[in-house]
Amino acid sequence: MTHCQEHYARLLTRLGTLATAAGRPAPLLLAVSKTRTPEEIRALAAAGCRDFGENYLQEALDKQDALRDLPLTWHFIGPIQSNKTRAIATHFDWVHSVDRVRIAQRLNEQRPAHLPPLQVCLQVNIDDEATKSGVLADDLPALAAAVVQMPRLCLRGLMCIPEPREAPQDRHIPFAKLRYCMENLNALGLGLDSLSMGMSDDLEAAIAEGSTIVRIGTALFGARPPKTSQDTRS
Ligand SMILES: *Cc1c(COP(=O)(O)O)cnc(C)c1O
Repeated sequence: MTHCQEHYARLLTRLGTLATAAGRPAPLLLAVSKTRTPEEIRALAAAGCRDFGENYLQEALDKQDALRDLPLTWHFIGPIQSNKTRAIATHFDWVHSVDRVRIAQRLNEQRPAHLPPLQVCLQVNIDDEATKSGVLADDLPALAAAVVQMPRLCLRGLMCIPEPREAPQDRHIPFAKLRYCMENLNALGLGLDSLSMGMSDDLEAAIAEGSTIVRIGTALFGARPPKTSQDTRS
């Protein structure tokens, strides 16, 4: 067993324990594989992991190509520029970071006809941070109402990246708010079932508040190498 495989097995157990304690089903473990090699992904896949999240398009496409023989589900979780939508619509199963109508329209138009609809989460700027991407909670109902009409997209739920909080009990605040946003949309009949929330440092609070997908990088693969100029590609 590699270290990653060991971390994966232990994390699955931990997710199960936390979910049981919260009286909720265990969330999907999405392995965030940005900056990791195809070999590291292959090792995790051998341990049973099927879902991988990537932030940088070109890096992801290179890895997908090297891993074509594996039945993996690919999630795009990074910021989306307009000129990247065609490749994202073509090469991914899920996108977690849709935050404006124009990007959703392009993904809808560009999703190839032979593929099932693209599974979409809307990224919400849950702490109203000036520098963060994501739709503001106030603008979310209008965006959701537009996306749910798009036939080549399947609106599944909401995603957030909260600002870091020191105190463990405070970490619940943004996740409870995201769940509340989804409940409000569902009261309008949207039928959403996915909350993409929780990363290595805050997964416990996220699961307590009803996360259905945790996005885990560091706790699986170890610390990421420091950012280089190459990593800023998208
Ligand atoms: C990098 C990243 C993660 C994983 O973060 P870790 O702290 O390494 O678990 C999750 N979600 C998004 C959107 C990311 O960019």
